[in-house]
Formats: sequence, C-alpha cells, structure tokens
Amino acid sequence: MKPFVIAYIYPELLNLYGDTGNVTALSRRLEWRNIPVEVRHIHVEENIDFSEIDILYLGGGGDHEQEIANTKLAQYKDDLKLFASQGGVIFAACGGYHMLGNSFCLNGNIVEGLGVVDIETSCSKQRYVGNAWMYMKQQTLIGFVNHQTSTTYGADVTPLGYAFGPAYPHQKDACAEGVAVKNVFGTNFHGPLLPRNPKFTDYILKRALGQRGESQELLELQGDELEEKAAKYLWDRFDMSRYSQTK
Ligand code: GLN
Repeated sequence: MKPFVIAYIYPELLNLYGDTGNVTALSRRLEWRNIPVEVRHIHVEENIDFSEIDILYLGGGGDHEQEIANTKLAQYKDDLKLFASQGGVIFAACGGYHMLGNSFCLNGNIVEGLGVVDIETSCSKQRYVGNAWMYMKQQTLIGFVNHQTSTTYGADVTPLGYAFGPAYPHQKDACAEGVAVKNVFGTNFHGPLLPRNPKFTDYILKRALGQRGESQELLELQGDELEEKAAKYLWDRFDMSRYSQTK
C-alpha cells in the first residue's frame, strides 16, 4: 500500500498546547496496524501539493503565528476548498479551526479566513480556558480549551458536538462546539485531543481509509484502557453537577 501522507501544515507556527501530539496519534495508530504512513512537515517556505495528501492537519496558534499562517495559506484557498469538497480529510485545532472559516478573530479584529467551512468566529468578551468535555453522537471527548472567541454556523453546517465543563463556568447549557462537514473536522479543543481520545482518532482514520477506497476495518488495539482510565480520572476529579450537561 502507498504510505498514508499526513501533512502537518506549518508546524513551526501552529503547535500550541501539545497539538503536535494529534499528528503523532494519527500516525502511530496507523503504524500499530501495519499501515504505512509518512508524516510530512510542510514549512512556511514550502509549497503544498494537495494531490499527495491523505490527512491535512492544522494546529492552534497564537495571534501572531496565526496571522502569518493565514496570509501564507490564502494562496491555497481554492485548493483547500477543492480538497475538502472532494472528501479530503482535514483536522484542525483551535487557531487552525478558526482559520478554516469565512472570517475569524485575530488580535481583537475580524479578518478574512480561508472559507473552507461556512462558519464565522468572532471575538468574545470572555476567554474560555480549562478542561472541557464534548458530547458527540457516539462518544464524549475530553480536551482543554484556551480561546477568546465564539463561532456561529452557516445554515448547512453541523457542530462536531456540544461542550461543557470547567472551561465554561457561566454557561447554562452545553454549547455547540467545533465543526464536522464531510471529512473536515475542526474544534477549539486542544488537549492534545487525539491522544486522549483514541476512538475519535480512529474515526478520522477510517474516513481517510474510505477516501482512499481502502477497507475501513482497523485492527483492534490493546492498550486504550490507559486513555480511558485517564479520562475517567479527570471526570471524577470535577464536580460535574456544577457544569450543565444539558444540550
Ligand atoms: N489565537 C486565538 C486565541 O488566542 C486561538 C488560539 C488557539 O489556538 N488556542 O483565542
């Protein structure tokens, strides 16, 4: 099998809160199933060849780094949109997620994004910081957020899930979080998210296998109990009755 190419876009800029671990989780879980994989770090001065990419990864970034990345990526707007519309797999964390939208908050101002998904991320008064959980259809993700933004969705766009927890102390209900459109997944959750949520990592990998026309069966792995234990430990540490879990 031709190796899977995971393209980590601008790792020198988009790499907050252990986001690099997301790429490691994707590649390791392929390796552990004996599926060949190549992680390609694409630096700002390099060209991006979308025809070779199976999974494109955008991490989170501070405002300054996001600005450089967004300016550089603007030249690839059409390629990114085409890649996404053809079912290409994109996973984006926080700053990278905001950039995928039509517009986003950068240093207190609204700037044009890459327009890959129909969302707008505005500046919010409050900074959301801390541990967070996200209900999805078949699982609950655990992560960490640190952002001062709020995202609104276009008519045909569905959130990835609904978030609650210590990061949102004043929120009455679990709030719409992240985005899932075709094979494009974005979320404010860092954590790093994927090593902490192996089922979700496998879900993304299955989408990538399907996109390649390969069987979406993944060999069972031993050892995910550790991640499950860690998630349970954190869940038990917080008095969840203080945080609304109502959708
Ligand atoms: N620069 C954005 C903010 O500070 C996003 C940062 C991030 O990726 N966490 O809100």
